[in-house]
Amino acid sequence: MIIQVVTRLAKQKFAGLLNFEKGRLPELTFCNDEKKRLLYLHIPFCEELCPFCSFHRVTFEEPLARKYFQALRREIKIYHEKGYKFEGIYVGGGTPTVLIDELDQILNLAQELFPIKDISVETNPHHLTPEKIEILQKNNVHRLSVGVQTFNDDLLKKIGRYEKYGSGKIIAERLKNTQGYFHTLNADMIFNFPGQTSEMLEEDLAILLNLNMDQVTFYPLMISSLTQETMEKTVGHVDFGGERKLYELIVRRLGKYYDFSSAWCFSHKESLIDEYVVKFEEYAGLGSGSIGYLHGICYSNTFDIESYIASLEKSKLPLQAFRKFDLHDQMRYDFLMKLFSTKLDITALQKKYDNKFLKTMWKEISAFEIVRAFRYFDHYLYLTPYGRYLWVIMMREFFIAVNNFRDYCRKQAGVK
Ligand code: SF4
Repeated sequence: MIIQVVTRLAKQKFAGLLNFEKGRLPELTFCNDEKKRLLYLHIPFCEELCPFCSFHRVTFEEPLARKYFQALRREIKIYHEKGYKFEGIYVGGGTPTVLIDELDQILNLAQELFPIKDISVETNPHHLTPEKIEILQKNNVHRLSVGVQTFNDDLLKKIGRYEKYGSGKIIAERLKNTQGYFHTLNADMIFNFPGQTSEMLEEDLAILLNLNMDQVTFYPLMISSLTQETMEKTVGHVDFGGERKLYELIVRRLGKYYDFSSAWCFSHKESLIDEYVVKFEEYAGLGSGSIGYLHGICYSNTFDIESYIASLEKSKLPLQAFRKFDLHDQMRYDFLMKLFSTKLDITALQKKYDNKFLKTMWKEISAFEIVRAFRYFDHYLYLTPYGRYLWVIMMREFFIAVNNFRDYCRKQAGVK
C-alpha cells in the first residue's frame, strides 16, 4: 500500500517538476562564487542502439561525431568565459569512448581550463582495449564505468547486446583484465528485466563478487513510456511486482562486502559515485540533450544534434528549455538527492536555506518518518533498509520522468 502511494505521488511530482516553462530562456548567469560544481558532458553516439535504452543517443556516424566534439569544445570554452570553475567531470552517453582521440582532446581542454579533481567516464565492454585504457589513464580518469547490464547470455541476446559486446563470459574476462588501471572500476548492472529470475540475478551477483569489482551500480529497469512499447516487443512485459524481492537479494549479497554509496550503488572504497546529482549540488549539462541544474534553474540543451552544432558554430549556447525551481522545489530536490546517498545532513540544509528547511519541509519529513523510512541520529537522517527501497522507487520514478522528458524533446527535434 505505502509502496503504491509513494510510486503514484513520485510519478505526479516529478512529471510536474520536469514540466519545462515556455517563453524566453533566461541567460546563463555569470558565475563568481566558489560553489563545488560538476561538468556533465554528453556524447550521444552508439555503434548500435539497444532496445531498452531511454538515453539521448543516435547511431554513430564519424563525420557528424567529429563536428559534434568540436562544438562541445566550443561550449566548454563558453562556460569558462562565464566564470564557471568545475571540480569534477562526468562523461556519459551514448558511448563516450566512441572516438577516443576526440575524447582525449575534450578531457585535455577541460583540465586546462578548470581545477578538476575527479573524472568519471562511461564505456562499453568492447571498448576495454589497451589503446583506449592508456588514453583514459593519461587523462587522469579516476572512475571507469562499464555498461554490463547482465552476464546472462539469454538476457544479453534479448536486449541486443550479445552480438555487440560478447557473451557474459567474455565481458567478465574483459572486466578482469581492466582491473587495477583505475581508482574505481564500476560495473553498471540492471535488475528486474522481464523474465529475470532470482536465480539469474544470483548468478550475476556471484560473477561480480568473484571479480571483486571496486564498485557495482545496480539500477532498477527504468524505461520511458515510449521505450516500454519496444521492450514489450523485444524483451517482454515490464512489471514492478518482483522488483523489491530482487533489490533485497542484491542488498543481502553485496551488503556484506560493500558500503552504500547510494541506495543502488555499492562501493569498496571512497569512490566518485555514479549519481553525480548526489555529490554535487549543481552541475552544468553540456552536449546535445544534456540537462543541467545551476542557480536553482534546470536547463536542457537542444536534442537536435545538427542545431546543437549550428548554435555553437555561432558561439551561441544551445539551450532549449528551462524550469525555475521555487524555494520549496529546491528543498524537495535536495531532500530527494541527499537521502539517495542514504543520509541527509540537517544542519547543512538548515544553513543553506537560512533555517527554513525544517519549517518548509515538515510535511514531507513527517510523512516519511511515520512510515519509518529514516531514523534521526546526531543531526543526520539515515535511511532504514525499508527507506532505501522507497528511495529506489522515488529515484526510479525521477529518472523515468527525465526519460519521458527526453522522449518528448527527441520527438520535437525529429530524432528517432
Ligand atoms: S544502453 Fe548504452 S550502448 Fe546501448 S544504446 Fe543505450 S547508451 Fe548506447
